[in-house]
Amino acid sequence: APPGGSAGRDTTDRSALDVGTTAKLSLRSVQKAFGDNAVLRGIHMDVAVGEMICLIGASGSGKSTLLRCINQLESIDEGAVLLDGQDISEPGLDLGPVRRRIGIVFQSYNLFPHMSALENVLLAPRRVLRRDSTAEAEALFDRFGLAEHMRKYPDQLSGGQQQRVAVIRALAMQPEIMLFDEITAALDPELVGEVLNVLRQLRAEGMTMILATHEMGFARELADSVCFMDGGVIVEQGPPERIFTAPKVARTQAFLRSVL
Ligand code: ADP
Ligand code: MG
Repeated sequence: APPGGSAGRDTTDRSALDVGTTAKLSLRSVQKAFGDNAVLRGIHMDVAVGEMICLIGASGSGKSTLLRCINQLESIDEGAVLLDGQDISEPGLDLGPVRRRIGIVFQSYNLFPHMSALENVLLAPRRVLRRDSTAEAEALFDRFGLAEHMRKYPDQLSGGQQQRVAVIRALAMQPEIMLFDEITAALDPELVGEVLNVLRQLRAEGMTMILATHEMGFARELADSVCFMDGGVIVEQGPPERIFTAPKVARTQAFLRSVL
């Protein structure tokens, strides 16, 4: 095995994997299995600065696993994840900086109930960056229209407001890329719009974003590129207009027929 390689992970072709990318984030032949369940079976993706990519596909197609492999919440079995050309999936790498640079927000927002919204947001910067970022946090609440709510506790906020606080909490680490995993899926329908508006605003501000979403209208309106996943591969990727109106692959057509 090459120096620095680890068991269970083929690192022999590593040098061949990271040539010639100018993308902010690149996935090269990413594979991930849980036991004998091959969940990601060779994912290729390039994400440019300021780009918004939407992952669509049926439940179980591998969207969440892909997002978790991007910010190294899961280790990958094969391939590489490159951030600014640097392999962040290399075994043994210090993951703290990686997870600061790539933020993630989940469907379940999991705010600490005994802390105000503002305290929830200040927690990670205080622990990890070892500094008081109250002014920056207040500016974030202001920017996303939540200034009047920042002293409230989670149970005094609607689900939509709590999810917006969770987004602010991730932004407080000043990430370069944001991942969103079905962040509106648990919300009452009338609360979905306010959370999508936060994403809309982030996109307009130039944030690089990858979203797993069931909000097809949103993906169609705002994505630069839509990836349809099925069985752990990206079956088809393209601009939303084409994917939604003229999908080329039968599996994409069938999926869209079932959801639109
Ligand atoms: P999606 O987000 O598209 O619904 P997931 O990535 O959650 O898909 O799941 C893809 C497959 O991976 C499913 O078969 C799921 O059961 C499996 N899976 C996901 N996470 C784990 C895990 N931690 N351990 C074992 N299997 C998992
Ligand atoms: Mg999922």
